[in-house]
Amino acid sequence: MNSARFFNKPAETMSRKDIEENRDKMLRWTVRHAYRNNPFYRRKLDEAKVSPDDVKSVDDLVKLPFTTKDELRSLYPYGTLAVPRSEVLEVHATSGTTGVPTLGFYTKNDIEVWAEVSARSLAMSGLTKEDVFQITPSFGMFTGGFGFYYGARRIGAMIVPTGAGFSRRQIQYMLDFGTTMVCAVVSYILRLTETALEMGVDPARDTLVRKGVFGSEMWTSEMKKWVAEKWNMDVYDIYGFTELCGPGVANDCFLHDGLHLWEDHFLVEVIDPKTGEPVGPEEKGELVFTTLTKEAAPLLRYRCRDISYIYDARSCDCGRTHLRLGYIRGRVDDMIKVSGVAVWPSAVEAVLLRHRELGPEYQIIIWREKGLDKMKVVAELAHELKGDEAEALRNKLESELHETLLTSVQVELAEPLSLPRQEVGKAKRVIDKRAE
Ligand SMILES: [Zn+2]
Repeated sequence: MNSARFFNKPAETMSRKDIEENRDKMLRWTVRHAYRNNPFYRRKLDEAKVSPDDVKSVDDLVKLPFTTKDELRSLYPYGTLAVPRSEVLEVHATSGTTGVPTLGFYTKNDIEVWAEVSARSLAMSGLTKEDVFQITPSFGMFTGGFGFYYGARRIGAMIVPTGAGFSRRQIQYMLDFGTTMVCAVVSYILRLTETALEMGVDPARDTLVRKGVFGSEMWTSEMKKWVAEKWNMDVYDIYGFTELCGPGVANDCFLHDGLHLWEDHFLVEVIDPKTGEPVGPEEKGELVFTTLTKEAAPLLRYRCRDISYIYDARSCDCGRTHLRLGYIRGRVDDMIKVSGVAVWPSAVEAVLLRHRELGPEYQIIIWREKGLDKMKVVAELAHELKGDEAEALRNKLESELHETLLTSVQVELAEPLSLPRQEVGKAKRVIDKRAE
């Protein structure tokens, strides 16, 4: 549908030799910078008896201790800074729904880098100067709105900065301005799809939106397919998180086979989340990031909790030379243990969305009854079904889920549009009542 579009071709296609030399050089800079200018990292390295001079290349990374989310939280608000406060231009924060938020700080150069990687990612998703680009993530402490904004400004597209919420107005603007490309948190494009249909607007027929870039939540290829069909759009996946910089860290190219990570700015490792040891080639594990150019708040071996793997191949037919990550299918924290069995919400989603009778919203509810774990999946119907059809579908889903998850699951079918919707922020699809 599309061909390779570069924002910065020399950077995006640089030789592996250059990528690796630059990476080692910037790693040495980052470790020295963190050690000299941040008391937390200095203490950590001293305790681990590592001097910045011990880190010469990526092979020496294992000498460095990991950094965890809890450590970053304990440094709230300014403890992660490695520059004077007066050098900081901007701060962003995670939603903090699970406690103290973690922060992302930016110097002038950090903002420039963010704009650059976001622009590369958006160009990879097909954004051009000719596009009308609607930015639906919120502009605020969340990195979403500004991340897309900085990148789109570089490309010179016409920006419609709606921010989050007001879904009917979003659809109206799409029609009025002739929006051709949209970005959103994954669950929000589902909301926008439903809103359009409620308004009698068929997104594929009545809007000009043919490209979309989505992130911030894990989603399955089944869900992507659902969105692509409803809008007749090419769907791209963007990756990033607050502590690193928002959207733009990695993105998939038009071949839709993994996410290119911008290796001139970010270094990734994959570890076994239990042992902390590196995993084998193309093996799944927890992603660990080290920043390579970040001034305000550098990160050394940050365990981000997301689960994925690194492709062995370093070349891609799009021409980009930066490594590819597998699509993020979950986080370490997403895995739920039910009666001793590991259950991934993405596996449930993949089963549900194979069925045309179902809409994209669902809930997983877990509780304890007489000392035993129980799990129920509430799946929302796309349209009304007759009693016997509904019963047949319910039975089918129960047996497919049992087969996939290897544990028994009750299925309840909910009326169309009856599950709670998220107007702003991330969807909450797992309700674990065992802790209550
Ligand atoms: Zn590619």
